[in-house]
Amino acid sequence: MRPGAAVEDFRAPLFIAWQLTNSCAGRCPTCCEDSGPNHGWPDELTRDEALRVAREIAGAGIPYAAFGGGEPLGVPHVWEIFDTLSAAGTSIKIETDGRYVDAAAAARMARLRVDNAQISVDGARAGTHERLRPGSASFDQATGALRHLSAHGVPAELVFTPTRHNLAEMADAFDLAVELGCSAFVTGPLMRLGRAAADWQTLAPDPDAWAEATTDLRARAAGRRDAPTRLSIYPHDIEREIADRLASPQAMMLIVPNGRVKLLNALPFAPGDLRRQTLLQAWSRYQQAWRSAEVADFIHRCRGAPELLRHANETWPVG
Ligand code: SF4
Repeated sequence: MRPGAAVEDFRAPLFIAWQLTNSCAGRCPTCCEDSGPNHGWPDELTRDEALRVAREIAGAGIPYAAFGGGEPLGVPHVWEIFDTLSAAGTSIKIETDGRYVDAAAAARMARLRVDNAQISVDGARAGTHERLRPGSASFDQATGALRHLSAHGVPAELVFTPTRHNLAEMADAFDLAVELGCSAFVTGPLMRLGRAAADWQTLAPDPDAWAEATTDLRARAAGRRDAPTRLSIYPHDIEREIADRLASPQAMMLIVPNGRVKLLNALPFAPGDLRRQTLLQAWSRYQQAWRSAEVADFIHRCRGAPELLRHANETWPVG
């Protein structure tokens, strides 16, 4: 195997995904993390602990960190983390509902190494978006945030989560992304995780309807080749994603709100703990865990029993 092809070849992760909190204002039925108001974990990292982790990421020279949640921009010390990483040359990606992204926040991101910011807009019309994202940022807040980002030169990506209730608006939502100046329109099959898994029968689009909607979406995007908005359709469902990752784990480490280190958000295994270990010690445990029989067995069983993914948001030890 050529160097760089196996996760063991890397002395540190290339990419950190960091869920800073499980708290947010939304009660979205599609939320794969089961986040919401009062859903913050009681043991989330404190400001001092989170900044220590940020300094470790910076010190290890990790090139890329993506922030999600819950709502990462609702965490009081999030800008200190961004400042620490930016100063060290780590590029930042932010997944947010957009409520905190006004002109000043967009300007601040433009001064940092923010590679892109993703904001969910789950309909081409306000009523559809707001029915699917109760409590989350309104349609005006989410689209306004995308406008602010584009105006300040921060690549802004509109993320569309498909359900049987909004699929008919997906191609129109692409036009909306173009109008807002977005750098990308991002979608993919609904992930059978968290609340989406619990309500799968009422939310998940029929596979044929999804295939038809993606054909329409591709045609719409092809007709807008003059626009700067790239179309990105993730090709795999979550069962295929975890099987692919087992075959070829990425040099990507996920940190959840209490500092535990997980293999993927779809898997309950948490081999590391940044409260007790350094980043590089946790990385070593992460690498070993991907090769454990326990993890492989769980992933194989998920193929025939996808309901096992209901455990995705738990944190199990490995070995
Ligand atoms: S999808 Fe986002 S806004 Fe909605 S509940 Fe989940 S984390 Fe909160």
